Amino acid sequence: MTGNFYKRVLLAAVIIFTLMIAGCAGMEVSTGPDKSVSSRQQSDSDLKVHFIDVGQGDSTLIEKDGHFMLIDAGERDQGPTVVSYLKEQGVKKLDYVIGTHPHSDHIGGLEAVIKAFDVDKIIMPQKAHTTKLYERLLNTIDEKKLKITPPKIGEVYELGDSTFQILGPNRDYGDNLNNWSVGIRLDYGKTSFAFFGDAEKGAEDDMLANGFSLKADVLKVSHHGSSTSSSGPFLDQVSPEYAVISCGKDNDYGHPHKETMDALQKRNITVFRTDQLGSILAVSDGSKVTFPGQNKGSTNDSKTKTEESKSLTREYVLNTNTKKFHLPDCKLATSIKKENKETLKGTRDEVIKMGYEPCKSCKP
Ligand SMILES: [Zn+2]
Ligand SMILES: [Zn+2]
Repeated sequence: MTGNFYKRVLLAAVIIFTLMIAGCAGMEVSTGPDKSVSSRQQSDSDLKVHFIDVGQGDSTLIEKDGHFMLIDAGERDQGPTVVSYLKEQGVKKLDYVIGTHPHSDHIGGLEAVIKAFDVDKIIMPQKAHTTKLYERLLNTIDEKKLKITPPKIGEVYELGDSTFQILGPNRDYGDNLNNWSVGIRLDYGKTSFAFFGDAEKGAEDDMLANGFSLKADVLKVSHHGSSTSSSGPFLDQVSPEYAVISCGKDNDYGHPHKETMDALQKRNITVFRTDQLGSILAVSDGSKVTFPGQNKGSTNDSKTKTEESKSLTREYVLNTNTKKFHLPDCKLATSIKKENKETLKGTRDEVIKMGYEPCKSCKP
């Protein structure tokens, strides 16, 4: 009798708990960032730039007058995400695909994209990489009987009645793959957008020196907001009103770096981040750029919140051997050998500056 009673209580508890979990999951789904940004309200002749949320990586879809261009496609596991995003936007054929440089967080998803859609022109830098991923991409390009068009500085291409000009890479950058990034400025009417892949300071200096206009209303911040890019003089030349940073939530690199955020803030540039907002849509009617669905206030609020949590002083557990850091209650923290274990009170940024990497399990 009593055994039965306890069984019933236990069963009831399990049911309630399950409902609670389902409830939470449901809430997360409905309030979470929308992966696909609707573009129904815009006029057909508008230029639309979709910064697709691919976690830590880059992928940008550009649409003008029914013509499409894709710049990068995130890591390999993001390929299906990008393909379905493109299908939702009605992409049948891509006029251009740009693989900015052979790093996996840029070209990883391109194999799936090239297999799924017709492609007219594929632009990639003349810098080979020895990874399997890169070889597979070349094979896929071969199988589709496509030829890689190398970027030629100053060359102008048409996308509907918008145009884009090649601004990088300007020279041989040896093994610095980031600096090999294909950089472009996209113009429609009086408005411009600039994309430079992961180009770092060295490549930025060369773009400053080559004399082409870098001025843009919207800058896709290079290298996910890393402090190795976005030097002061470069930001001053581009002089954007808006900046978009594509990076993953709590990514291992600490992107975007504080130096970059400070440099953007100092210049009063409004920042939109995919790790906070999911996919981001920018629209140009030829005279001005808008970000439908994003109100500036909420962006600044969430920015402040993240900044607050990052500058919060709290206790961290460091593993001096693996150079990882954890929250005190992380399972992996409790199993660290005594001689390698250190506790520290400080901010997340301070610990990262000390050369430590956030644990992937507790994500401090
Ligand atoms: Zn890179
Ligand atoms: Zn990258």
